[in-house]
Amino acid sequence: MSAPEVGAVVVGAGIAGLAAALELQQEVSEVLVIDPSDRPGGVMRTDHVNGYVIERGPNTFQVKAPMLASLQRDRLDGSLMKATPASRRRCVYHDGRLVPVPMSPAALVGTPLLSARAKGRLLIEPFVRRGNGSEESVAAFLERRLGREVVRNLAGPFLTGVYAGDEERLGAEPVFGPLVAAEQRAGSIVLGLIAGAFGGKKPKGLRGIHSAQKGLGPFARSLAELLVEPPALGARVSGVRRDGPDWLISVSGASGESRLRSERLVVATPAREAAEILRGVSADAAAELDEIEYAPIASVAIGIRPEDVTTPVEGFGFLVPKDAGIPLLGCLFMSQLFPGRAPEGHELLQCMIGGLRRPDLVDLPDDQLAEQVRADLDRVLGLKGAPDVLAASRWQRAVPQPGPGHNARVARIRSRFADQPGLALAGSWCAGVSVPDSFASGVAAAREVLGGASHGAR
Ligand SMILES: Cc1cc2nc3c(=O)[nH]c(=O)nc-3n(C[C@H](O)[C@H](O)[C@H](O)COP(=O)(O)OP(=O)(O)OC[C@H]3O[C@@H](n4cnc5c(N)ncnc54)[C@H](O)[C@@H]3O)c2cc1C
Repeated sequence: MSAPEVGAVVVGAGIAGLAAALELQQEVSEVLVIDPSDRPGGVMRTDHVNGYVIERGPNTFQVKAPMLASLQRDRLDGSLMKATPASRRRCVYHDGRLVPVPMSPAALVGTPLLSARAKGRLLIEPFVRRGNGSEESVAAFLERRLGREVVRNLAGPFLTGVYAGDEERLGAEPVFGPLVAAEQRAGSIVLGLIAGAFGGKKPKGLRGIHSAQKGLGPFARSLAELLVEPPALGARVSGVRRDGPDWLISVSGASGESRLRSERLVVATPAREAAEILRGVSADAAAELDEIEYAPIASVAIGIRPEDVTTPVEGFGFLVPKDAGIPLLGCLFMSQLFPGRAPEGHELLQCMIGGLRRPDLVDLPDDQLAEQVRADLDRVLGLKGAPDVLAASRWQRAVPQPGPGHNARVARIRSRFADQPGLALAGSWCAGVSVPDSFASGVAAAREVLGGASHGAR
């Protein structure tokens, strides 16, 4: 039986795949998204528990320019929800208490997060000799330019919040590309960034951090509802192969095995799944995809009454440096950021634990995981009453870890498929791990296959 032909196939209904499909359907009819899950959104999931609105995956995101442009085109920007001004107060657990991260030069001068010596060290940054940031870890690069304390007390905790990773293993270039480029351009991060600020207008996203009115699961669902063809959920792509100008896509689902034919294919899955799907096209690319490391995370939602903690629940939340002796990676004060996420008289705390720092904790049974989080919160916030453990979500391969050679690896993977028109890759492993970066990777992948294909356009 011949395989039915569609205008484009997108593998994966995470934010990258949904963004790709919405972009593709601007020009192509019959865009089919395929995903084994029972709902669209990938790791973006929201649940309602005892009056709390709980995010099981990502919690907040920046709305960068490519994402904003797509949402405005599809009239979905109105569903975004900006965090309250409380979000500007972000803390690091330091010397047994929560200390606000300095957000201005004046605050930097006064912050106890850096010693007087470390602050003095910042002044000589423009005179530090240029190095090769493209081969260094974040820790090596920032220590060379800004000193050890900046790494330990500021950059390290920040990276824990984004990657659940280790600054000694993350690469400076994939993580802080603009800083590495500024050093190469101007011999100094500070001077390079100042010069860059005067270097012409760049497209802007929205200021501040965001969620969506009803949470990120419903947000993903509203993206999926804009698709003319509803996503094929409960179905998995097991492999693809070329057949002349087309891709033959093998799909397994509840109704058995089937095949689809399309000239355009976007693979928007995590790296290991992309390796499985594409191994028959390039074994070398699949081997490189398999090498991309991920950090595991357990995300534990806690409900608490303000009077049950000694340290007030105020602001964005806190991050814990790796030498603090506390396994907790950090905690977001979600009900402070987005009103309505907790019942009256309660706060919702979203705690992250595990990561590369303590991957073993992600596998703890629920009761032990809850006890660990409770003990860590007690040390940081001082518990006077028992918190409610509302939900625990485990992600064994949560966030990709771009090491020093990551950009070169992604370029090699792409080059292996350079002679395969109509195929493009998207997802958090290839262009930045955040929600907006994954979204942008989907838009870019769609444009890539649209640029290369010739028939079926509407
Ligand atoms: C716990 C956690 C907290 C996070 N917090 C934040 C945050 O606060 N802010 C932020 O910006 N980012 C955050 N991130 C990162 C961000 O959420 C992700 O990087 C981004 O959502 C990834 O989107 P994606 O589409 O690339 O991948 P995914 O969401 O993983 O989607 C990939 C999809 O591919 C599907 N798939 C897999 N195999 C196949 C197959 N064979 N056939 C068909 N489909 C397949 C999967 O079912 C999945 O739906 C967080 C991530 C996690 C896990």
